[in-house]
Amino acid sequence: MSTHYDTQNIFAKILRGEIPAIKVYEDDRTLAFMDIMPQAKGHTLVIPKAEAVTLLDLSADDAAYTIQIVQKVAKAIEKALDTSGIVLMQLSGESAGQTVPHIHFHLIPSSIHELRKHAAEMGNQEEIKATAEKIKLVLEQL
Ligand code: AMP
Repeated sequence: MSTHYDTQNIFAKILRGEIPAIKVYEDDRTLAFMDIMPQAKGHTLVIPKAEAVTLLDLSADDAAYTIQIVQKVAKAIEKALDTSGIVLMQLSGESAGQTVPHIHFHLIPSSIHELRKHAAEMGNQEEIKATAEKIKLVLEQL
């Protein structure tokens, strides 16, 4: 059984354009944008546009497509920020610590041993925007 989807969740609002986001990639099925409380510089989120709370609620087709975009954005992050190593994180369900009930993949260019605390502290939004511009530039060439 799928989890009830709350259409008022913050990522649904971002998808509808009701609140702003620092976007780096968008197509008809997915959106990638910067995390406002980054656990490392370059922390990016990739979400399918389909209404799904956890990985278990997502169709196999959307899961397959979204992971391709995750891979594309990961490549762009590494190139744009000249880093290697990305922590790919996906929290499915409140019990796992999920705070926003619309499925998302975290791409965090860092080491698991060096991550800042999860969803804890606002980042410097100007710095995040500048990082996003670098990632966008590479994505436009991929
Ligand atoms: P999770 O706990 O896996 O559901 O992660 C939710 C993530 O969304 C956290 O890393 C938050 O920092 C991030 N977040 C919350 N609100 C926003 C927002 N308005 N724009 C971008 N990221 C957000």
